[in-house]
Amino acid sequence: MATGADDQREVEGRRTSEHPSSGTGVIRLFDPGALRRQLADALATVASDLSRLSALGSPEVADILDAQAMMAEDPTLVERLVARLAPDARAQEVELDRSNLTTAFLSVANELRAVGGYIGERADDVCDIGTRAVDLIFGSGEVRPQYEANPESILVFDQLSAADAARLGAAPPRGVIVTTGGPTGHAALVLRSLDISAIVGCSNALEIPDGLVVELDPIQAIVMPSSPLASDRSPEPRVRRAIARSVLASGAVRLLANVGSVADALEARSQGADGIGLVRTEFLFVSQEREPDQGEQVSAYRAIMAPFEGSGLPVVVRTLDAGSDKPLGFVDLPREENPALGVRGFRLARQLSGLLERQLSALAAAKEEVDAVDLWVMAPMITTIAEVEAFTTMARSAGVKSVGVMIEVPALALDFGSAAKLVDFASVGTNDLVQYLMGADRNASRLGDLLDPWSPVVLRLLQSVARWGRQRAVPISVCGEAASDPLLGVVLTGLGVTSLSMVPVALGPVRTLLGSVSRTEARRLAHRATGVASAHEARRFVATALGLG
Ligand code: PEP
Ligand code: MG
Repeated sequence: MATGADDQREVEGRRTSEHPSSGTGVIRLFDPGALRRQLADALATVASDLSRLSALGSPEVADILDAQAMMAEDPTLVERLVARLAPDARAQEVELDRSNLTTAFLSVANELRAVGGYIGERADDVCDIGTRAVDLIFGSGEVRPQYEANPESILVFDQLSAADAARLGAAPPRGVIVTTGGPTGHAALVLRSLDISAIVGCSNALEIPDGLVVELDPIQAIVMPSSPLASDRSPEPRVRRAIARSVLASGAVRLLANVGSVADALEARSQGADGIGLVRTEFLFVSQEREPDQGEQVSAYRAIMAPFEGSGLPVVVRTLDAGSDKPLGFVDLPREENPALGVRGFRLARQLSGLLERQLSALAAAKEEVDAVDLWVMAPMITTIAEVEAFTTMARSAGVKSVGVMIEVPALALDFGSAAKLVDFASVGTNDLVQYLMGADRNASRLGDLLDPWSPVVLRLLQSVARWGRQRAVPISVCGEAASDPLLGVVLTGLGVTSLSMVPVALGPVRTLLGSVSRTEARRLAHRATGVASAHEARRFVATALGLG
């Protein structure tokens, strides 16, 4: 953090320090009021930039950019950001940095996305506005697309905002390919109005080699290598890759926290988690002489959700995961030869008459008592489609709206195409998944090499789960220890995992690395990591590619 005396200056009579040009500074503001003014100033500048750009464009471009400008000026946007950055209105000091400001914008965007419909479609606008505001305050990092203006280039973007598309009008390239988005999105409309040939939503465009001479058929949405005759033409339309936004700034992944107590939940909130990705509810059961009653359960769940009250962020709760190495004081569990392969997790909980139903209804009741928290509930150790059906039916009839499963058993991972039709989300417990996939006890320290989540076999299985998730529009999280490894976080995101849930202390390092790697690069590294021969090679390849080897 930058706090050196050289960097200090006065703002509104308050001490601040910053390194705006390096993009890594911390601004210290004396109170939430100063934060509010800082954000409002930056957003007013973003709005006037957008309006200026809009005045240069066609009426269609102007409509889109004016709508974004209005959103940037909307005072409720500032209030939503302040609520995230300074939840305590009486705070004596508020720190602002690139990372927490980006996270605050993404969290507002995710909240809109969760509403869906017209409001949900505004989420990308908030991300674009956020990118600009962050650049304004901290100097431009690598989050804005950069490219060489050249009329013979076909530019490939991973993401393109409407405003960045409008900027291309100043020196139009021969064509544009965007991997994400769709033909009716804002960027596509702007490109069309600028008469720039474009294919938007071409998911495999990143596989086109840089420098290749290609032809673009925007009507049929086809890109093909030029025929020898066509490539004799001079000058040639060559593919040029634009530097894309960081994987974090693109909104492709949320960083969540694993918690097992109220203290953990408070820590998660103060570390700027985008929500809780795993509440291990065992803390409430394992050392008890009797099953906690409804009132005790409701108040415990309410307390764990409370730090996220009003945030609209997800809190993902796992139903009781006992058995194996987690005995229950109030149930006489028979001795098992292989407890890890025995009656544990969902297998056990459903055998304890009414326990799951009582837990689910306590969770639904706790949610009613906490404002604006998005409760998601999942069951551990689910293996078959019949179990998926049994759990989702039970949870929905208890009043839970978002119901999911943990993927910890390879059978479910392999059958996820079917399971995904029944669930709202899934979370991969890599600690158990790796143990069962590799046939190695997760507690056996001498088998550490077999238990490595970098194993390309594990990565390929996760890739298949993420693909099904994408096809069926089911978010896929990873909540095992693997998600705490920043390098592996890059690979998991590149494979298509949509959130990573980790111990709260890991949030900072994971956020820093994911904030410096583009989505394109994450996908490329993930693709390569699945194809090497060993966990060691996969890790070394990714570390070297990111300059961390
Ligand atoms: C996992 O298996 O990865 C997981 C998150 O669950 P636990 O470690 O609690 O078994
Ligand atoms: Mg587990």
